[in-house]
Amino acid sequence: MEKEKVVIIGSGPAGLTAALYTARATLNPLVIAGNQLGGQISITAEVENYPGFPEPDLTGPELVEKMQKQAERFGARIEYDEVVEVDFTKGSPFYIKTHGKEYEAETVIVTAGASPKRLGVPGEEELIGRGVSFCATCDGFFFRGKDVVVVGGGDSALEEGIFLTKFADRVRIIHRRDELRAGPHLQKRAFANEKIDFVWDTVVEEISGNGMVTNVLTENVKTGQKERLDTQGVFIYVGHYPNSKFLEGQLVMDEHGYIITDERMRTSVEGVFAAGEIQDPVYRQIATSVGQGCAAAMMCEKWLSERE
Ligand code: NAP
Repeated sequence: MEKEKVVIIGSGPAGLTAALYTARATLNPLVIAGNQLGGQISITAEVENYPGFPEPDLTGPELVEKMQKQAERFGARIEYDEVVEVDFTKGSPFYIKTHGKEYEAETVIVTAGASPKRLGVPGEEELIGRGVSFCATCDGFFFRGKDVVVVGGGDSALEEGIFLTKFADRVRIIHRRDELRAGPHLQKRAFANEKIDFVWDTVVEEISGNGMVTNVLTENVKTGQKERLDTQGVFIYVGHYPNSKFLEGQLVMDEHGYIITDERMRTSVEGVFAAGEIQDPVYRQIATSVGQGCAAAMMCEKWLSERE
């Protein structure tokens, strides 16, 4: 059993910021990175709205690397593993188990983030990696000269749809309403992009293929009309769910699985803090996750010093 003072579960903007602050407070934090260092920003094509980075072509992975380096510079350690089980019921020290190790941590900051939601339609699961994708940054290159559809009407759908026009000849954005949820800046860019068309009031009912995606079956929710759209790629951006399954029964959560915290990022268990998208269904921005990670780290440090 490895003994740690601060264990940070997750390595997105909230986790890496908590790591930076607790490292600078000489608490020697250990970050358990999860299955993707950087979390969702590591699969984000462009970051346009994180203050202090005005360059137009900053990518998510570049920002992750900068955050990682900054935290490591002050002594944060990163373990490339995933937490599979915790026991917070007996109080501090808290038990944490990963695929490879077991830990006892005096305090824990949970920053395990959120994951992309699935559509839940036939063909989706089977064709992941065969034309179905949740990551334009990772997979866009494979669709050079092809025809793809994007499902969703939020910021992610538009941002990644615009990114896909670098590769694909045609990008159709299928949205279930006739009004976008995405912000006006992204809407303007998408409407001005001649490779992008919108398919309004439409849902995807099935994704089909013969080993690789060949078409999607859609239904217009107003007219009931069904249509098969030929396409080679289906990029799905219909929101997120919190990565909190491994914490069930350990921390109080809302009905959607978001961890409930107070204004000081304290969870229902004393000594366990949470920050970022695992506890924030509202803002979900890099900037807000960074702020929450910072607050959680400061509260964690205070909690430790009051105990000593
Ligand atoms: P989101 O804002 O929750 O949007 C999800 C979209 O998917 C909505 O348009 C929704 O339709 C649609 N949808 C949900 N379930 C669906 C289903 N079963 N079938 C078809 N469509 C479905 O998610 P997001 O775009 O990933 O954004 C998440 C958060 O990150 C937001 O707060 C966003 O502002 C932020 N973000 C910001 C940026 C940026 O600022 N550059 C970039 C990416 C993300 P309805 O509109 O009808 O509900």
